[in-house]
Amino acid sequence: MKNLLLLSLACSLLVSPKSISADTGLMADSKKVSAVEYLYADVSDANTILATIDSGLLSTYQGKDRAAWQQFYRKKRAKLAKELERLPASGLSSGDTGAIAAMRKQMKAFTGGGALFSPAAKCQDAARKDIAYPDLKSALVACFVEIGNSLSFEGGKINRVSALDLLHETSNPGRRKAVFFAFVPLWQAINGNNEPDSPYRRMIAGAAAEAAKNGSEIDNAARDVGIDPAEVERWLVQILDAWRESSGDAMIEPWDFRFQAGEADRLLGTYIPRESLQPINQRYYRDLGADLEHMGTLYDLSPRPEKAALAYTEFVTHGRMVNGVWRPTVARVSAPYERGGLFVLNELVHENGHVVNITAIRNRPAFVDWPSDLFAEAFADVPSWSTYEPVWQRRYLGHEAPEQLSLRALYSVVVLDVAWSLFELRMFRAPLTDPNALWTEITSRYLHIVPHPELSWWAVRVQLADLPGYMVNYGLGAILTAEMRQHISEALSAFDTGDSRWYGWLSEHLLRYGSERDTRTLMQNFLGRPVSPQALLEQIHRLMPVTLEATGDHSTDSADHSIFLSPEYPAGFSQPSSQRLQSAWHGYLLWDPPTRQ
Ligand SMILES: [Zn+2]
Repeated sequence: MKNLLLLSLACSLLVSPKSISADTGLMADSKKVSAVEYLYADVSDANTILATIDSGLLSTYQGKDRAAWQQFYRKKRAKLAKELERLPASGLSSGDTGAIAAMRKQMKAFTGGGALFSPAAKCQDAARKDIAYPDLKSALVACFVEIGNSLSFEGGKINRVSALDLLHETSNPGRRKAVFFAFVPLWQAINGNNEPDSPYRRMIAGAAAEAAKNGSEIDNAARDVGIDPAEVERWLVQILDAWRESSGDAMIEPWDFRFQAGEADRLLGTYIPRESLQPINQRYYRDLGADLEHMGTLYDLSPRPEKAALAYTEFVTHGRMVNGVWRPTVARVSAPYERGGLFVLNELVHENGHVVNITAIRNRPAFVDWPSDLFAEAFADVPSWSTYEPVWQRRYLGHEAPEQLSLRALYSVVVLDVAWSLFELRMFRAPLTDPNALWTEITSRYLHIVPHPELSWWAVRVQLADLPGYMVNYGLGAILTAEMRQHISEALSAFDTGDSRWYGWLSEHLLRYGSERDTRTLMQNFLGRPVSPQALLEQIHRLMPVTLEATGDHSTDSADHSIFLSPEYPAGFSQPSSQRLQSAWHGYLLWDPPTRQ
């Protein structure tokens, strides 16, 4: 199966002179460097194979069990460290020098196994004033697992993401408010009573001190775009301002925000049962020229009790040249999906955006790795934003929500990410800031949300504790996503309903470099100019200002919006909504869906 892809890549190389010249860069210039680089590739593969085994998906890989892989990893890693030391410090080509630097940097992130996103720490330690910053961070992540997975609601337990989903779907306002307040124990674990030495406030002080020494995710993102952090802040504010102008004047309670914005999700959810997620996703990528089924990607999409509660994508093995033939990258997607819906489908398409990103990398082993966090998150949204375009919905779901509702659903999620990005940026700059006051200021000013400075309702994202500053990769990433979508539409064609040239063209122009090119150079070369927020601002301004009722029952179960029904749509995915809504409700109590990764 994998050979088909390999053949098609090889064929495209034969007809493209540019690619042939690019292929010469797939090997090191120095024989010594080449040997070390292939040793690096073995260690890198063993590292991600161990993570695959530890995720619970497999117990053996390529005939070897965990113990054998671990032994292989330890032995080869020790050898690699020694060999890297022995390489000459001068007289190498610039390509080889860059490759050595990349290997040294990337090796630092190797863990040699361990389950991703499942800390061994205890939430109760977050209250201890004597623990060091890294331990405090782990304890706060543990709070998201221990408390976030077990919120009390209506006499039962729901998890954090189910609760967030209920905020989108619950039409009864009183019940919606009750869901919102189910988060109180989590908010308290993260930010106590918002006292100056609350766990989060101690943690962010530690994060800021660390950033002062080594730089933060925000500094990295700024560098990746080629601007300074002050400019990042101005861009984030511009995006929030665009939303403020396009979202009416009525103030809305925080427990109503997601519901008001999520009408498209409610209209279309019925037509996206869980079993349709993969077929729809695969069909869309096939139309984009990427045959996921032939890529050998490992999909691990069902919930398991011990599994990470968010969706992510990772390498299993890294592509490389073997005897003059390219052996493709194998990727793995992990998610705990128990149900379908547009939000989940959008996320699955996002994860597969990561898959096509890393399978398209065609470079020497040192660079067959993730591009920057900012680029990776931004690129994954390039295909996934299409799921909120009515033309996409018509083709792949056979039904469409009105454009204004679809755009509102998509960009409400984007601007919340932008709000968190601005929140973190300002917390990093002034870690003694009162986080509740800051969050209230941002959300009341730009999102028209009624002030509730007594509530730490910002504390619902794991990333805020796990990787402080990481939210900027989503918030600022949206600017890159809009830029890439616009440029592809102009240079190739609009691709919301597919374009078979899409994958090949993006592989050639954007994705094949892997970790070799910094994001700034990559984007500059791709766009032919520096990145700007203009494309995203134009997208948000597609939203017309509306006046939404601030309170009351906005149930769309008896929606007055018409949903387009496509006569040629194949039967099978659509089922009567009454049955589905009921069974979906019972599913909530156990449902453990992902957050955006
Ligand atoms: Zn992602």
